[in-house]
Amino acid sequence: MKNTLESATARAQTPFQNQPFIDFSKEENRKAQIEALEQVKSELGRKYPLIIGGEKIMNEDTFTSVNPSQPDQVIGYFSRATVEQANAAVQAAATAFESWKHVPAEERAGYLFAAVDLMRQRRFYFNAWMIYEVGKSWAEADGDTAEAIDFMEFYARDMLRLASEQPLTRIKEEDNDLVYIPLGVGAVIPPWNFPCAIMVGMTSAAFVTGNAVILKPASTSPAIAAQFMRILEEVGLPAGVVNFLPGSGSTIGDALVENPQVRFIAFTGSRDVGLRINELAAKPRKGQRWLKRAILEMGGKDAVIVDETADLDAAATGIVASAFGFQGQKCSAGSRAIIVDKVYDQVLQKVVEKTQQLTMGDVTKPETLIGPVVDANAMKKITEYIEIGKGEGQLVSGGGHHGPGYFIEPTVIADVDPHARIAQEEIFGPVLAVIKARDFDDAMHIANDTEYGLTGSLYSRDPQRIERAKEDYHVGNLYFNRKCTGALVGVHPFGGFNMSGTDSKAGGRDYLLLFTQAKAISAKK
Ligand code: NAP
Ligand code: MG
Repeated sequence: MKNTLESATARAQTPFQNQPFIDFSKEENRKAQIEALEQVKSELGRKYPLIIGGEKIMNEDTFTSVNPSQPDQVIGYFSRATVEQANAAVQAAATAFESWKHVPAEERAGYLFAAVDLMRQRRFYFNAWMIYEVGKSWAEADGDTAEAIDFMEFYARDMLRLASEQPLTRIKEEDNDLVYIPLGVGAVIPPWNFPCAIMVGMTSAAFVTGNAVILKPASTSPAIAAQFMRILEEVGLPAGVVNFLPGSGSTIGDALVENPQVRFIAFTGSRDVGLRINELAAKPRKGQRWLKRAILEMGGKDAVIVDETADLDAAATGIVASAFGFQGQKCSAGSRAIIVDKVYDQVLQKVVEKTQQLTMGDVTKPETLIGPVVDANAMKKITEYIEIGKGEGQLVSGGGHHGPGYFIEPTVIADVDPHARIAQEEIFGPVLAVIKARDFDDAMHIANDTEYGLTGSLYSRDPQRIERAKEDYHVGNLYFNRKCTGALVGVHPFGGFNMSGTDSKAGGRDYLLLFTQAKAISAKK
């Protein structure tokens, strides 16, 4: 392992840089993506076991992941973990933790560097899995893989920073140190909407800091998580450090959260599930020796504000990109456009025009921007919200849906009251509520008047208003004169306020601290 240690340390000395996005206007890249789509197509329909302590267990009881563009196409069959197996996975992680916690940080980072190198080689292949499994467009899938790469590269480096000597006030009579040690066993519970980036980010942060984890993938995107598990196996990560536990969140989720051997839960998903985890984790169970830490990243009802000084074309472009990228299925999606009275009609017209230019359909084709929503439940919930929205405002674009895939037209509903349901509740689909504000002050008030606080954007050329928004716009990620989606690792540490979660700032220097506890060590000279 000596070489790995040295190379991990050397690599961490070079500055972190974001992985560039693939330029699909280049013929060679288009060809590579098409070949990867063919490759993955030939691998669809396989069976996937649980992985507990390195052992692969194929249950008779399986569930399927399907292609939302074409629901009769099976992506894979996944063993459905039972509550007993969830507890066995926690035990396996607890056993692995006893040795993993002694592995030096450089060596742990070395595994992550090796894993990220493999994912770089498999860039198009990972993109292809996402295009099939969750209906991402090429660019959205590629952004997701790039972000996963960034998370690994960033956290491996940041682990070495945390493992280095910490800046303390020095005193003559003592030697003092501050070291960051792991917490123990963690349950990692990601959502399906960034099926690669968020799953990889939470899992890697947890294990590179010395914890052992149970990865319970989202049930609509387990194949991508299985591809990541393959990488971890190939780089030789010791058995039991990351256990793979596909299965229904509502069945095994509680068992994982309540298990007294679990020390922390890293969750990203909806508000209601996050609140439930928070409550269950707070109650100590028999034999539990610690407070469980719950790292919870939840929903959003994010806004894009436009005032009368803004570049109105740029604002309309930003509104449409924020609202409809990946069919609006982002926690950061700009699902509310708040436009001041003076320019309301102009901006609305531009938004409608740009929305109608979006191409919806077959995401295996490079020119398609909009694919399906993730599954039948999402389709039902979103179409119900569109019906509610028709009663709450004016349907000015879209509104329709068609099969056999779960396709919903990008939908714009104008003249929505700030307290209407479609202006307050997270829809998580391609539905934009457009709200008229009297003036800038009113717009700021409306933007903050939800229970969430994840991302927000303001289009304005007025420096005083920009200063005011810096103070008053109560969101974890604030953007000026650009869209409110597309946070970059290292550049925009990500996480929100209020019911959007614990503001964990993924992709920033505060993140790994959440997976560690600090020990101060003093020795008299
Ligand atoms: P979700 O339904 O809450 O599911 C998230 C994860 O929780 C899945 O793995 C799910 O498993 C699991 N789960 C379900 N019930 C559980 C329970 N009782 N105990 C423990 N785990 C349980 O959310 P989603 O639909 O996958 O994702 C969309 C949501 O995530 C949106 O609200 C979005 O805003 C939010 N999100 C937030 C961020 C952020 O950084 N703040 C980022 C991305 C997404 P199953 O799949 O088996 O049900
Ligand atoms: Mg699917």
